[in-house]
Amino acid sequence: MAVYESVHELVGKTPLVALHAFPLPEGVRIYAKCEYFNPGGSVKDRLGEKLIREAMQSGKLKPGGTLIEPTAGNTGIGLALAAVGKGINVIFCVPEKFSAEKQVLMKALGARVVTTPTDQGMSGAVAKARQLERTIEGGYCPNQFANSDNPRTYFETLGPEIWDDLDGKVDVLIAGAGTGGTFTGTAEYLKMKNPDVKTVVVEPVGSILNGGKPAAHRTEGIGMEFIPSFVKTKYFDEIYTIEDQDAFRRLKEAAKYEGLLIGSSSGSALHAALLEAEKSEPGTTIVVIFPDSSERYLGEHIYE
Ligand code: PMP
Repeated sequence: MAVYESVHELVGKTPLVALHAFPLPEGVRIYAKCEYFNPGGSVKDRLGEKLIREAMQSGKLKPGGTLIEPTAGNTGIGLALAAVGKGINVIFCVPEKFSAEKQVLMKALGARVVTTPTDQGMSGAVAKARQLERTIEGGYCPNQFANSDNPRTYFETLGPEIWDDLDGKVDVLIAGAGTGGTFTGTAEYLKMKNPDVKTVVVEPVGSILNGGKPAAHRTEGIGMEFIPSFVKTKYFDEIYTIEDQDAFRRLKEAAKYEGLLIGSSSGSALHAALLEAEKSEPGTTIVVIFPDSSERYLGEHIYE
């Protein structure tokens, strides 16, 4: 298809790109699912389309109503993009620490941004969104941290795309977790197709999945302060906890040696994929999710 009726049709069907520049053990392949090819630039465009469609079909959100959501940025961009042309007001609650570029893009797409204190973390943004939902008439907060449509989106789209594009020849999935929606939905689909697929979750140091304490980290978009109830920890076949410095080193290498302009959560997932590759049998195919691009973090001098 070369002609599209609207930008919404461009969400999904992102490319899988084989990595060649990193030394891999004989017969091991890594494919990157480049989610920054989505029209809003991230894996969360898929969630935005789904949440807006569900909210409008169920009547929770009516034209003239207000969507309110806590977000680090990419879910906000995805939701704002999905809401364009639908007559909905959009407000995002974003902890101050997250990249300025993402806030600019949310505003460009017509959203209002309310920042919340960095030291209250994502929980502060969730609380603020809940409070606004109660006070604004016609307000609705889908809350990606507690909404099973989050993993369902990835079960219905990302998982099938990976499976179909590789004709089922996938042995390992590697994905970072912020809400855990991408990981849980994609892992669930791949395990349903083949229970032997190994599903590996990635977090930064400063996240709790490996028993760590919540703490500040530079890697953006992944890391958990709490585990949402939709997250299926039984799919954590392995947890990689990656240092910021490794994530940022890998994102620079991905640009220079592969021509892939990826963000820090992708850099973190890439580092985990390379560690996993080192211990994989010949013939193993690894798929790693690259959620967004470096362009929304250039103000943080990530390539210097
Ligand atoms: N990487 C980036 C850059 C993100 O914005 C997000 C979403 N917060 C993720 C990874 C993780 O996605 P999920 O919330 O589905 O775990």
